[in-house]
Amino acid sequence: MSTQPTTISAGAPAGVLADAYGRVATDLRVSLTDRCNLRCTYCMPAEGVPWLPGDEILTNEELLRLIGLGVSRLGITTVRLTGGEPLLRKDLVPLVAAIGALEPKPQLALTTNGIGLAHRAEALVDAGLDRINISLDTLDPETFTTLSRRRRLPDVLAGVRAAREAGLDPVKINTVLLRGVNDHEAPDLLRWAMAEGVHLRFIEQMPLDAQHQWQRDEMVTAVEIMERLSEVGPLTPERSDDRGSAPAERFVVGGTGYRVGVIAAVTRPFCGACDRVRLTADGQIRNCLFSRTESDLRTAMRAGASDDELAAQWIRAVAAKLPGHGIDDPTFLQPDRPMSAIGG
Ligand code: SAM
Ligand code: SF4
Repeated sequence: MSTQPTTISAGAPAGVLADAYGRVATDLRVSLTDRCNLRCTYCMPAEGVPWLPGDEILTNEELLRLIGLGVSRLGITTVRLTGGEPLLRKDLVPLVAAIGALEPKPQLALTTNGIGLAHRAEALVDAGLDRINISLDTLDPETFTTLSRRRRLPDVLAGVRAAREAGLDPVKINTVLLRGVNDHEAPDLLRWAMAEGVHLRFIEQMPLDAQHQWQRDEMVTAVEIMERLSEVGPLTPERSDDRGSAPAERFVVGGTGYRVGVIAAVTRPFCGACDRVRLTADGQIRNCLFSRTESDLRTAMRAGASDDELAAQWIRAVAAKLPGHGIDDPTFLQPDRPMSAIGG
């Protein structure tokens, strides 16, 4: 394995990871593992998926080299750790600490199902974690078991509490609604989030399940989500210029000042403002969740590629980004890898 150090410059030039449509990637999503301790039905089948072989998963040293390159040379300003379930990675706290020590320090975020967070939230914050998203689709223990095929709701709720107690603010909750399963719970989830003081965002279900069973007419659309939420109070859109490249459209819940987010990834795509690039657990750069091609940095790195060579390969991968995900195109093909292997 190469031990070549990453060159750290005083600050990365802006706009390095640019594509042909004028977008610049500054937000790096890093999948730390494709494994998970839940089996959410919209993500993977009950038996799970064939996991990546252990020797293909990047080590902390390799992750740091690539993330360091992104931060110091390629204009990455935000690093989000995800998976699979990133908390399954035993060396997560030292990794967070090492990323937090990079110069310039990126904003450091984690997307997790919350299981096991209760006893790690404080250590993660101490190590430099700035932001957290916790996935929670239901407050009903039976529905949780139907949806995730595991009886772990109390662990997730304990994780949410621990994140707040550790000082993460805001704690963001990601929710996917499935028709006939948990869609009736949208108002209760909103009332709960308001009472808990956490930010709630609903995400339209995307064609990224390992089983390839997503069906557009089964998806609960953003319009339907808002109809259900308006039971709590009238929803007023936040000014659109407050949205920037953030995918969530936010709505003020009448008479409360609380803002709820809706991510209409399918029905109102935000590809034109996308600033993301992804690194999979096995070291592939993906310029889009829905991309059907990847750029293999792991093989190049393990074969001894220099930082300049890795950076050039990364730049080429982002330059080839397509203008949109094309879900509505009749020729759309779901990527071979599921969301759990790409990094959500
Ligand atoms: N295991 C962690 C978790 O659940 O937060 C991180 C990985 S998970 C793939 C990241 C996010 O993707 C979660 O909020 C999850 O609900 C969401 N997700 C997974 N499959 C999805 C799908 N088919 N459509 C929309 N969101 C999905
Ligand atoms: Fe695991 Fe997250 Fe997929 Fe659920 S959505 S199965 S928690 S990776």
